[in-house]
Amino acid sequence: MRKISALVLIALILIPIATAPLLALSIPSPNLMIIEWSIEKSYGRVIINVIPSEDDSMNNPDYKLLHFHWHTTAKYWINPSNKYGFSTNDVVNTITASANTWDEKTSYEVFSYQGTTTRSAGRRDGYNVIAWGLYRRGAIAITYIWYSGDRIIETDTLLNTYYKWSLKGEKGKMDVQNIMTHEFGHWCGLDDLYDDKDYWLTMYGYASYGETYKQTLGLGDILGLRAVYGE
Ligand SMILES: [Zn+2]
Repeated sequence: MRKISALVLIALILIPIATAPLLALSIPSPNLMIIEWSIEKSYGRVIINVIPSEDDSMNNPDYKLLHFHWHTTAKYWINPSNKYGFSTNDVVNTITASANTWDEKTSYEVFSYQGTTTRSAGRRDGYNVIAWGLYRRGAIAITYIWYSGDRIIETDTLLNTYYKWSLKGEKGKMDVQNIMTHEFGHWCGLDDLYDDKDYWLTMYGYASYGETYKQTLGLGDILGLRAVYGE
């Protein structure tokens, strides 16, 4: 992300195939970065044995940092309301498992779960919220980061109800733990990776239906976390 003037919104729209375009609009401070996680599309894309055929994530040290991160423990709330029949307990257990996957790899307390809420995600209200909500087709999950300098002030993640969701890695549905583990990586200050060789890392920038391998971190994910928070 290039350095920009103070009163600017950056919407980083991550589109498969093309490079990510930047849109700049004027809004009041603080800055807001929106990271949309796009669904993987293979058509039109030539893949010639570039994606490693087996999971090599524990040997891949790649990571990329955002230019900001939380300087305090990120307290977060979960809005468990959903149209998929998931119980509140199951939603909370799944999403907190995603956060704990990062937390257990560093001695710093990165996340602290505060409870359920009826608040929505994508609104700057002083609460860091994970919630389902409708967004445009193509983006699976959207992480909103309000920041000032290198300091994150608020983070929300919206899970797009345009898609079907699963707590069990079902075919044709987005797995909540898989997607949230990736999104919490953004909360930790990590950016997406788009090289095919980074396919098996949690911070790889594309995801697809039924995918669960991003529930666990690879070497690069852990090194990125520790570059921000220490061991
Ligand atoms: Zn991402």
